[in-house]
Amino acid sequence: MTAPASSDTLMEDIVGLCKRRGFIFQSSEIYGGYNGFYDYGPLGVELRNNIKQAWWRDFVQCRDDMEGLDSTIIMHPKIWEASGHVDGFSDPMVDCKESKLRYRADQLFFAPVSVDGETIGYVSVVECIDQQEVAEKAAAEMKRKMAKQGDLDPIVLKEYTEAKPEQYELIPSPATGKPGSLTEPREFKLMFETKVGPLADDSASAYLRPETAQGIFANYKNIVDTGRVKIPFGIAQIGKAFRNEITPRNFIFRSREFEQMEIEYFIAPSADWKALHREWIDTCTDWLVSIGLPRAGITEDIHPEDKLAFYSQATTDLMFQFPHGEQELWGIACRSDYDLKQHQEHSGKSMTIFDETAKEKYVPHVIEPSLGVDRTLLAVLSAAYTEDEVPNDKGKVEKRVLLKFSPKIAPVKAAIFPLLKNKPELVEVATKLYKKLQRRWNVFYDSSGAIGRRYRRQDEIGTPFGITIDFDTIEKDGTYTLRDRDTCEQRRVSEDELIKFLEEQIDG
Ligand code: ATP
Repeated sequence: MTAPASSDTLMEDIVGLCKRRGFIFQSSEIYGGYNGFYDYGPLGVELRNNIKQAWWRDFVQCRDDMEGLDSTIIMHPKIWEASGHVDGFSDPMVDCKESKLRYRADQLFFAPVSVDGETIGYVSVVECIDQQEVAEKAAAEMKRKMAKQGDLDPIVLKEYTEAKPEQYELIPSPATGKPGSLTEPREFKLMFETKVGPLADDSASAYLRPETAQGIFANYKNIVDTGRVKIPFGIAQIGKAFRNEITPRNFIFRSREFEQMEIEYFIAPSADWKALHREWIDTCTDWLVSIGLPRAGITEDIHPEDKLAFYSQATTDLMFQFPHGEQELWGIACRSDYDLKQHQEHSGKSMTIFDETAKEKYVPHVIEPSLGVDRTLLAVLSAAYTEDEVPNDKGKVEKRVLLKFSPKIAPVKAAIFPLLKNKPELVEVATKLYKKLQRRWNVFYDSSGAIGRRYRRQDEIGTPFGITIDFDTIEKDGTYTLRDRDTCEQRRVSEDELIKFLEEQIDG
């Protein structure tokens, strides 16, 4: 795990800015907040919608081999039996009996502390960027307190899932720092359960979907029967998913209610799945770059064969350099014909398709690119967050905070400023332009305060363009001053030039 130098403060700065400017709020804040749930405020919902719309346009509307879908959040419980979620969708959990805190056992690390080969105790640490350093410090402190002479052996951290039963009692709880209170790892089911209908018994049990993908498999037959699809083709869906994460953390990176943008891409069993998988990995990477993520911040994590599920042929995660370290953003998995065959078996309905080209009937295999909306939003925010120094109205250099969003996804595309608010001639032209642009894009009108302050307010929310109506506009040639957020450069443009420029920058 690696992280940018200022990672801790970067996350704090992003969280602070999101709250201050109305991007993201902790859910139920007036009641003290609700862990693992977030609300998107006025700017957040715009940014979120823009990300989803860009994805939908690029992956569904601009492709001839993709169909869209919007399935329900609660589905027949048998779907989750067939998919394997009822039995298998869980994370290993460990409890601290004293503090009552819970940890994900694969995010809790421990190591024996040895001095010249003799074990003197154990250290534990919850997964974090500098976990090795934290563990080494704790080990040095233990040696000092126990007044041990000699050299500390290297600290080799292991997941708590790998601890031997006789070690559970010896490993200290990260909450109390003392051994003896951690339980053995137990499987913790991640699906939220609910009841459907008036009966409260087990027959009424249902689940909130933990992924949107199963809604696609459950509708695959409908789409094959009603659409004019031809192998290879995909079905795409954007929608909410719910997981009762043991330790939701890192802001919106891991929450209990989130949104996914998923595709199931159906291919012939005989197709060159390795080549198609590679194509999807490249397409997905290019898309992330197209919405403003730096290519250098995206890496590939190829899952080793011995860690794959038995039905999976290959999985590659696109990793992004988040403020809290390099973590999964987009999972791209080759899932063979497992899901469709499971549903065929459990529902009794045939999941075969007739391949017109090959003149044969089969259950297709599938490649699944699965992306989180909220993680994409966090990645976009981290890549866009910038601090620099620019001169203010009086020429004095000041620090400024700006979000360098791509115009394609920026929540506000342009801000319109009459130079002075008490000059009706300026206000009239500015309002007219504002009303005209508003019909096409989300734009903002601001007439209060010094012009430099107005620019700064827009920079902080990532508005790429500022348009000022000044005396040259009304007395000379009708042109506007167009200001670029990133360079602060200004130039005069006619209305036609302005609209053409905005079209190119925003609509691409
Ligand atoms: P992780 O290992 O981080 O828990 P995962 O491998 O379980 O993720 P998938 O089941 O492959 O994730 O889900 C696909 C995508 O959905 C992820 O790549 C991520 O972008 C998003 N996602 C999954 N769980 C969450 C969550 N709890 N909060 C926000 N986004 C999530």
